[in-house]
Amino acid sequence: MNILVINCGSSSVKFQLIDSESEKRIAKGLCERIGIEGSRLIYTPAGGKKLTAEVKMADHREAIAVVLKALTDPQNGAVKDLSEIGAVGHRIVHGGENFSKATLITDEVKKAIADCSDLAPLHNPANLVGIEACEALMPSVPMVAVFDTAFHQTMPEESYLYAIPYRYYRDYRVRRYGFHGTSHEYVSSRAAVVLGRPLEELKLIVCHLGNGASISAVKYGKCVDTSMGLTPLEGLVMGTRSGDIDPAIVEFIANKEGKSAGEVLRMLNKESGVYGLSDGFSSDFRDLEDAYEAGNENAKRAMEVYIHSVIKYIGAYTAEMNGVDAICFTAGVGENSPIIRDRILHHLAYMHIVIDEVENHKRGEAVVISMPGPGPKVLVIPTNEELSIARQTFALVAGEKK
Ligand code: AMP
Repeated sequence: MNILVINCGSSSVKFQLIDSESEKRIAKGLCERIGIEGSRLIYTPAGGKKLTAEVKMADHREAIAVVLKALTDPQNGAVKDLSEIGAVGHRIVHGGENFSKATLITDEVKKAIADCSDLAPLHNPANLVGIEACEALMPSVPMVAVFDTAFHQTMPEESYLYAIPYRYYRDYRVRRYGFHGTSHEYVSSRAAVVLGRPLEELKLIVCHLGNGASISAVKYGKCVDTSMGLTPLEGLVMGTRSGDIDPAIVEFIANKEGKSAGEVLRMLNKESGVYGLSDGFSSDFRDLEDAYEAGNENAKRAMEVYIHSVIKYIGAYTAEMNGVDAICFTAGVGENSPIIRDRILHHLAYMHIVIDEVENHKRGEAVVISMPGPGPKVLVIPTNEELSIARQTFALVAGEKK
């Protein structure tokens, strides 16, 4: 069955068409600048060349129509007609406490997603618009919601509660939710396969290091802690997000510069992280790595604080789980930067981790990058959130048909 995976952002739609049987990607693409001057479609059929076209897209519904037209185009399309698309899997950012697994979309589910909008005001409304646009254009195709927060719903109370008056949890569900759940779940399962051991016996630390970054402690197949919180702002130092800070900083800066709390939070989300630390040099780790190697002080400062934050979380989660069998690196930085992995792992010599320099320089495949020995193994595992969404969508839809 062909599964269309849709990821709707505020002004973009990313999509992939995946054959659930072979698990091969048939086509992928992106609509960007939706509702803005210069909107365009970038589309790549499997084995074909990337095509870019300026197309007017006033809203997400028009963008989804453009996607479906591209997929069924007689020349460059991936399928003959829409009847060849068996289901749609939607990436949904926030499911609150309502969803601990993928779910067939009904009116009730849509209402629950809308109810979580105050927890993810940039993402959930866009995700809903994507669902409704697909429903309007493919009324008989089943739709599935796959939540970024779902995998973390197994966290125990001591991990997800903040030490603020309990009534804020009781009344407003203020708690740690965690994000990147689809990636953490996918990488944990792949790690068990690579290690040749049952997931239910393993203590894993998954480091999803991309532009956004989070770490999870996964004990016996279940998430027991994760670094992102009520929103994706908490935790590690990221591309432009601060990660953990003293909350008193918000009022302090607001008073100093006559800003509102919202303005300070925007700064913490968009102008902080390695971008802020490097004095605005770059949020892109490739730029920072090159500049770091060339001795740029701004890049050095940013990289040192970033690496320090990852090391700190690995130590904390090892302690929380009373040990760790494997540490997994994934996402843009985690998969592609031997230098950053090397810098992190050198600090973990106390755990008897010795890095295999040859394996550490491999790219694009799941590999063990630690030398054999008594310490935990270290793995690099390319994440594949779209494939995971397609798998979960297929499993639900096939189950319904039985
Ligand atoms: P993601 O959010 O997972 O797409 O990751 C994006 C981040 O990965 C960006 O900051 C990129 O600079 C970083 N990245 C991609 N390739 C490399 C690389 N070869 N070395 C260092 N960072 C990389």
